[in-house]
Amino acid sequence: MMRILEEMLSFNHEFVKKTAKRFAHNLPSKIPSRELAIFTCMDTRLVNFLLPAIGVKRGEAKVIQNAGNTLSGPLCATIRSFIVSIFELGVKEIVVIGHLDCGLSKLTYPHLVEKMISRGISPHALKMVEKELADWVDQFQDPVHNVIEVVEKIRNHPLIPKDVSVHGLMFNPYTGQLGVVIDGYDAVTDIEVVNG
Ligand code: ZN
Repeated sequence: MMRILEEMLSFNHEFVKKTAKRFAHNLPSKIPSRELAIFTCMDTRLVNFLLPAIGVKRGEAKVIQNAGNTLSGPLCATIRSFIVSIFELGVKEIVVIGHLDCGLSKLTYPHLVEKMISRGISPHALKMVEKELADWVDQFQDPVHNVIEVVEKIRNHPLIPKDVSVHGLMFNPYTGQLGVVIDGYDAVTDIEVVNG
């Protein structure tokens, strides 16, 4: 039986043979043409489903993903990605997309620790990150609430300019339906009114 790496290489060989010429004539820029960054969950059900469902194609957006579309600190990898996206790649809007039935909402710190220890992770190593890890896992109770919190954190982040619209959306991974939690245009309008 082929292992995953062999499967990927074999598939890729055929893929390049069939599609290289087509892509060579249609190369998008690394600058996202819709000036958009999407921040969403790493859930497998979103693969090849979320972007087609919202009409985003290759070359149009930066896509940042992690477990539960969570922010884990003031200069976490996601914030760094936003900074590069905004200041180097012209992103003017950020869309945070949570989804129904997010696995992170069911995860608890004791359960995670039990699994990690049973796989040989050192209790000493866990002790060193206990608070950070526990806070991250236990704070995620509800995906909608998380989207609201994440949008607020991005909006209030001192390294994110106030003219960037930050939207919060929820996605149904079964039907593909999208719902608005926070319309970022309202917030930008408010800021302009306050500044004016
Ligand atoms: Zn998720």
